[in-house]
Formats: sequence, structure tokens, C-alpha cells
Amino acid sequence: MSKEENEIEKTTPESLSRRDVLKGLAITAGVVAVGAVTGVNPIGAAHAAGKCPGTTPKAALQYRPHPNGKDHCAVCANFIAPHCCKVVAGSVVPDGYCLAFIPKPA
Ligand code: SF4
Repeated sequence: MSKEENEIEKTTPESLSRRDVLKGLAITAGVVAVGAVTGVNPIGAAHAAGKCPGTTPKAALQYRPHPNGKDHCAVCANFIAPHCCKVVAGSVVPDGYCLAFIPKPA
């Protein structure tokens, strides 16, 4: 597979609605807000319990278990080591990638 074939275009595909992306981000914001109000870190608690907090289906964000160039889960602001994501449902791998990728602040 060539590098070009291996990369996902960063444009929003027709199959991914703005609603899907906004829903995932809204849920993430809600989880963070609950933690701020209760003093409990729901992301850390969920991760400690073996459950990842992300709820958006992998297919909706075109998740894949390999990077898009230099962009990958381990350098994404949504990544929760070792295998969770704040947005995408289920386990992810550090070398994975999806359309919700946001680089970690430097
Ligand atoms: S690239 Fe996608 S799946 Fe990976 S941590 Fe970031 S938002 Fe989650």
C-alpha cells in the first residue's frame, strides 16, 4: 500500500456529518463538566475501571489502527494512554488515527 493510499484525506467525507462530530465533542465536554462539578475525574475513573469514555463509533470518524503521516493517537489531545480516547468508542492504539485528531499542545 502506498503512502498516498495509506492516508485519509482530512476533508470531511459525505458519510461523516457535522452532527456526528459535534455530538462526539459535546459528549466529551459534558464528561469534563461532570468532573468539574463533582470533583471526580470521570475520564480517569472510567479508564481505571477498564472502560474508555469515548462514545463516537470508530466508523463515524474513520478510525484506523495506523497513523496518518505524523498524526497519530499518541500525539493527539484526545488520547488517554495506554488505549483510550475521549471521543472514539472502544480501545484505540497509540499508532491509530481518526478524523477527530487534535495535536497535543506543545
Ligand atoms: S486520533 Fe482520533 S482515535 Fe486517536 S486519540 Fe485522537 S481523537 Fe482519539
